[in-house]
Amino acid sequence: MPATKVTNNCSVCGMNVNSKFKADYKGQTYYFCSENDKMEFQKRPQVYAGLERVSKKGKAA
Ligand SMILES: [Zn+2]
Repeated sequence: MPATKVTNNCSVCGMNVNSKFKADYKGQTYYFCSENDKMEFQKRPQVYAGLERVSKKGKAA
């Protein structure tokens, strides 16, 4: 069994990835289903990498 742990979902849309399309961001490799989604990620990597997930519900009670 291969030990490599790869996320099999596109970081942009969540579909199955094609390993041809990948990008490095902050030391992590992200995979995509298409060139288009890769470009989308590179436009706003902080969004798709999940670093700004709290942007809408960031209010403390
Ligand atoms: Zn995609």
